[in-house]
Amino acid sequence: MKREIIAGNWKMNCTKAETVELIEKLLPLVGDPGKMEVVICVPFTNIDAARKALRGHKGIKLGAQNVHWAPKGAFTGEISADMLKSLKVKYVIIGHSERRQYFGETDESVNARLKAAVAAGLKAIVCVGETLEEREAGRTREVLLRQTSAAFEGIDKSALKQIVVAYEPVWAIGTGKTATPKEANTAAFVIRKALRKQYGRTPAHAMRVQYGGSMNASNVKELMAMPQIDGGLIGGASLKPEEFAKIVHYDEL
Ligand code: PEP
Repeated sequence: MKREIIAGNWKMNCTKAETVELIEKLLPLVGDPGKMEVVICVPFTNIDAARKALRGHKGIKLGAQNVHWAPKGAFTGEISADMLKSLKVKYVIIGHSERRQYFGETDESVNARLKAAVAAGLKAIVCVGETLEEREAGRTREVLLRQTSAAFEGIDKSALKQIVVAYEPVWAIGTGKTATPKEANTAAFVIRKALRKQYGRTPAHAMRVQYGGSMNASNVKELMAMPQIDGGLIGGASLKPEEFAKIVHYDEL
C-alpha cells in the first residue's frame, strides 16, 4: 500500500506574518494526519518562518516551489538545493506549469532541476500536464509521455523513492475546472507507462502520482478513489485552512 500525499502549493501568496497566521490556523485543523503525508510548499522568503511555525509538529512537512540546477554561482534570483536543505526543506516542486508557461521552463531545465534536487537529498514533486489546446488536439498522451520521459532522463532507479509525479492538466489549474476522475486516472496511467518503459513495472507501480487542478473538498474523494491516483497537489484550496484540512482528511468526508 502506497502512502498517499497531499501537498499545498501556496504559489506567490502570503507575507511572513500571513504565513505564520495561516500555519497556526492549519495545525489544529490538520491535527494528526494519520497515514497521509502532508506538505506545504511556501514562497522562498517564507520558508524560515514556516519552519519555525511548524516546529514541534511532525504532521506537516516543508516544501519549496522551485530549485536551481547549479550548486552555486552567477544565477541571479535563483535558489540552490543546498540552500533549501540548509532551511530544512524536505520537498520541492519542479516544472510547475506556471513555471513552464511564464518563465520559460523546458523539459530540459525540469530534468536538470530534478537531478540537482535528488542529488542533494531533497524530495521532488515533478509536474507534468497538457494544455487545453493539446488536449483538444488529441495530444494529451503524447505530451505526458514526452514530459515524463524527459523529466526522468538520467535519473537513477535508486532515486525514484525521492520523487512524486503530479499530473496537472494546465486547463484545470486555478480555473475551477477539474479533470474527471476517469480523465485523471487515464493520465496517471500514461505517466506510469512512461516510467515503466524506463524503469520496469515494479518501480513504476511503486511511484506515487498526484492529481492537481482545482482539487477541493468536494471533489477530492472521487479523485482519490481512482486506482492510479495517490495524492493531490492543491493550489487555491491550500490557502484555506478548513478546506485544506478537509482534503487531508478526505476519508472522513
Ligand atoms: C497548482 O497550483 O498546482 C494547482 C493545482 O492549483 P489549483 O488547485 O488552484 O488549481
